[in-house]
Amino acid sequence: MPDWAIAKTDHLRLLASDWSTFAGKLRTPCKCLTVPGASITGSGPSRHETSSCIQVVARADTMGGQTPEQMGPRSDYPLRAPKPVGQMISKIYRDRISQFYSGGQYEHQNLRAMIKEGVASGEPHVQLSVWHAPGQSRPTFEEAASHKFEKTSVGNWFGPAWTTHWFRVVLKVPKNLRDKRLLEFHWDANNEGLIWDESGHPLQGLTGGGERIEWVLPQSFRDGQEHIIYIEMACNGMFGNPPGGDIIQPPDPNKHFRLDRAEIVAIDDDARQLWIDTWIIGDAAREFPQDSWEQHKALDVCNRIIDTFDINNRESIKECRKIAEEYLGPHVNSPRVYNSGKEPVVFAIGHCHIDSCWLWPFAETKRKVARSWSNQCDLMERYPELNFACSQAQQYKWLKELYPTVFARVKSKVAEGRFHPIGGSWVEHDTNMPSGESLVRQFLYGQRFYESNFGRRCQTFWLPDTFGYSSQLPQLCRLSGMTRFLTQKLSWNNINRFPHTTFNWVALDGSQVVCHMPPAETYTAEAHFGDVKRSMSQHKSLDQDATSLLVFGKGDGGGGPTWQHIEKLRRCRGISDTVGLLPRVHMGGSVDDFFEKLERKADSFVTWYGELYFELHRGTYTTQAKNKRDNRRAEVVLRDLELLATIASIKDKTYKYPKKEFDSMWEKVLLCQFHDCLPGSSIEMAYRESDEMYAEVFRTGEKILKDATAAMGLTQVKTTTVDDGFALNTLPWHRKEVVDISETKAAVACGSGPLLKLRHFKTNEAGPAVTLRQLSKGLFVMENSHLKVEVEHGVITSLYDKLADREVIPKGQKSNQYVIFDDKPLYWQAWDVEVYHLDTRKPLHATETKVHEEKPHRVSIVSHTKISDKSHIETVISLSAALSGQPSHVEVTSTVEWHETMKFLKVEFPVDVRNTEASYETQFGVVRRPTHYNTSWDMAKFEVCCHRFADLSEHGYGVSILNDSKYGFATAGNVMRLSLLRSPKAPDAHADMGSHRIRWGIFPHQGALSHLTVRKAFEFNNPLKLLSAVPGSTKTLAAIESLIKPPVYLTADSSPALVLDTVKRGEDDADVSTGDLPAREGRTVVLRIYDSLGGRARGTVETTWDVRAVAKANLLEDELEEVVFAEGKFKVDLKPFEVATYVLHLAA
Ligand SMILES: [Zn+2]
Repeated sequence: MPDWAIAKTDHLRLLASDWSTFAGKLRTPCKCLTVPGASITGSGPSRHETSSCIQVVARADTMGGQTPEQMGPRSDYPLRAPKPVGQMISKIYRDRISQFYSGGQYEHQNLRAMIKEGVASGEPHVQLSVWHAPGQSRPTFEEAASHKFEKTSVGNWFGPAWTTHWFRVVLKVPKNLRDKRLLEFHWDANNEGLIWDESGHPLQGLTGGGERIEWVLPQSFRDGQEHIIYIEMACNGMFGNPPGGDIIQPPDPNKHFRLDRAEIVAIDDDARQLWIDTWIIGDAAREFPQDSWEQHKALDVCNRIIDTFDINNRESIKECRKIAEEYLGPHVNSPRVYNSGKEPVVFAIGHCHIDSCWLWPFAETKRKVARSWSNQCDLMERYPELNFACSQAQQYKWLKELYPTVFARVKSKVAEGRFHPIGGSWVEHDTNMPSGESLVRQFLYGQRFYESNFGRRCQTFWLPDTFGYSSQLPQLCRLSGMTRFLTQKLSWNNINRFPHTTFNWVALDGSQVVCHMPPAETYTAEAHFGDVKRSMSQHKSLDQDATSLLVFGKGDGGGGPTWQHIEKLRRCRGISDTVGLLPRVHMGGSVDDFFEKLERKADSFVTWYGELYFELHRGTYTTQAKNKRDNRRAEVVLRDLELLATIASIKDKTYKYPKKEFDSMWEKVLLCQFHDCLPGSSIEMAYRESDEMYAEVFRTGEKILKDATAAMGLTQVKTTTVDDGFALNTLPWHRKEVVDISETKAAVACGSGPLLKLRHFKTNEAGPAVTLRQLSKGLFVMENSHLKVEVEHGVITSLYDKLADREVIPKGQKSNQYVIFDDKPLYWQAWDVEVYHLDTRKPLHATETKVHEEKPHRVSIVSHTKISDKSHIETVISLSAALSGQPSHVEVTSTVEWHETMKFLKVEFPVDVRNTEASYETQFGVVRRPTHYNTSWDMAKFEVCCHRFADLSEHGYGVSILNDSKYGFATAGNVMRLSLLRSPKAPDAHADMGSHRIRWGIFPHQGALSHLTVRKAFEFNNPLKLLSAVPGSTKTLAAIESLIKPPVYLTADSSPALVLDTVKRGEDDADVSTGDLPAREGRTVVLRIYDSLGGRARGTVETTWDVRAVAKANLLEDELEEVVFAEGKFKVDLKPFEVATYVLHLAA
């Protein structure tokens, strides 16, 4: 035993055994000497110091007075070594630690064997009966409980996958367990479950497979009587029903689950706590650096605990815990551990990332939410420091509708300030593909839900798991009342390491948000020692700020934080305050508390401009083509209908603006934009559900269109005549287009209002407006006054721009060339396309090309391309007559029969244009990306996301590729390449199999990228619809005539870069409001206008409506400033890529 007096180093910490020696030397007896970890410092008189006591003690050899010690070289140090003492062989003593509490050969002889004090299973203590819900139904408690239950027992199997089984469990605690300190009911059927009380209130979720299998029995169950609970068993695990260890493989429909355990267990809580003690101190021994004394101390403490443990003596556990205190401090059994007053750097927040669908259907998510959030409310009762943040308004809404008592419980925890609704969006959506207006609605619907249900909006946009982040998000966040952004996914980049943890993220328009990416690099941390440690060691912004968030809790079916997580974090904090070295973790605050501190010093943070491109999951721009097509179509439909319904509701006061229907349509579209749905990474079942949701959106849309046009005195028709027909236009600029009014006849629609008049399509006397010639077998030439197109064996070999006197296709190259690639990514099939797929490029050749259409207004060629014995493509290449003043494009409609395996189909357009950057439409703007592979950052963007167009332009000239339903694109050198179809087999074995109809356009243009492309792409996605006056309608022709002029528009002298994108009624107008938030008097129209090209854009909005005032607003329709409005006009003046919202107040 070392004498205290050898404390000659500057800083010495003593083992517990040294304390008594030291204490004896103190002049004033000090109670705090029982505190392990207090230190002696100083080389002169030793200084004893704890947080509560400072004393200076003279060292033995310097102590004053004439004590015998001073007089001579006397020493008790033995002359002879009594025995050999060896050095701890670190690795062996370290590996011994986990044996102390793990399963395996010693589990009946180690700490594990002490945790259960007693077990009661089988009748009469646990009586089980079951009712099997029919098919894949998910009945309510009331329905289930009304059925007759049949007897069952542990060891039985239940299934198949996705079925539901309700258990009635009668519990009777045996006498010998009634006085035990902690009684739990353990249930493990290896699948998810929810415990209900007898009167139908959900209590707690169960995960299965050894995870979250325990439920604490209420005190009232100790009365010796029978008590009933119900368990709703869902036949799926937390990751659905994968067939084996590979979770992304399609679900096994025949999976069954064995009920392994249903028993009442008395727990020795001391033994259980000691388990966590040794686990965490063991981690310190394993993970602290070997050149630190803290590591050696941990090793010593653990080994002394193991040596002290006596399997036959429960009292020894208390002794062991006392030893653990030397490393953890005395407060780890309560939240008091967080009250040391020392400054923390890691802020832990409980979280449960619940994918709204993924390896399970949406229908199961509704139950996962109830299970998970019940758990958290329950845990909060036992752990006062637990704070839990959860996102996705949709999930709250499901809970509100389906589990009102759980929702009420959540609401009370929200009111207590411990359950934190966060995120501000409807779901945790994809941000690559939704349109600008969709992103707006994610925030509008999300924030309105939070405000109306919890009385406040969110400040933090929470999106840990999405596959890339649009460059416009910071602007849209700021316009939705959020200044903060949390994400994490970029740590999955598989090429370049993202360089920052905390930074200011700057949008296209210059708006910024404070962004934090938790350095533990997970949003489902297990609250391990290592997670806390990595919160510092992987922090990349330490120059500016060392604090970080630790987002912990099991995701999906795991139900959020467990009691183990919370216990572990207490010990981590204990270590920081007692021993040091581990970053000091804190629990008890909110995410907003964390960000508030960051915001205060944000001006010192580094900046990141533009998109946060995710260097992985690039296949998600293409996988599940139908779902993506539906998304695009639904966005177009909603935009059109809101405009028309707004016009109708102002024109005809008897017409009711269908707000409720719009809400239900938007909520479905927004839900389908969830980050595993729209990207294509869910199982087949989820896509059958999204198909149904979209079908309903389109059905409702049809009805709204019918009602709105009827309110205008019009009806939709398939064919019409020039005289009684109109074309319905929903775009805010002058349009002049050829429309088919019957199989054989065409007309020209022209104008700028909601209704365009038709006139006869007349060919010029000098000759036909468009011609088709066959030069030889398989070689055709199509020509109008703007373009001359040569098609040879199905590919375009020449595209000559007559107005610019310029060939678009480089000599010898082929445009509209289909190419197919091998598509076997490293692992994530539906998600990823890997860079090496580019090396497997194979062109496909058409087998037959012939004339398809030869009309005065349009000519087409059709070709047939074989992909394989099962797959083929029919391609129609068309050229329409060029109308004066209207730029012309080549249109392609492709019908693909697709039955491939792990192949990727694309179409290429080599162009004679040179630029090191290409442009891609993104939300409310354009993003530029390299066309070369100079650096690994450039190369990482070998596949990128685009919206309606991609463009490669040089000074003076360029080519845009338009599309009606696609999002994947690449421009390598001078080759533009539109991604069409993939064929991954996991997690949906049938993804994209079947027929697809895809349209794209090749649009060469003079000048660089301009409003011509922006408008062309809009027009390409919003074809004109034919209408005619309702026969016998009471509406007068004058009423129809009034729609020839647009009721609201940007005047002709406005910047053409301005786009009037959205026209809708105000959310809270008295005649519109659904009552979720207080209605406001009067009627308003909301306009969304943006600068589409990235320059200052000025213009004038003119309206024929009776407007009394105009205000500029944010996306939530809060009015920010009044705008001068006079003579039916107001001015707009937007910064580059600014998104502006105006509220027009109509006169009563
Ligand atoms: Zn996710």
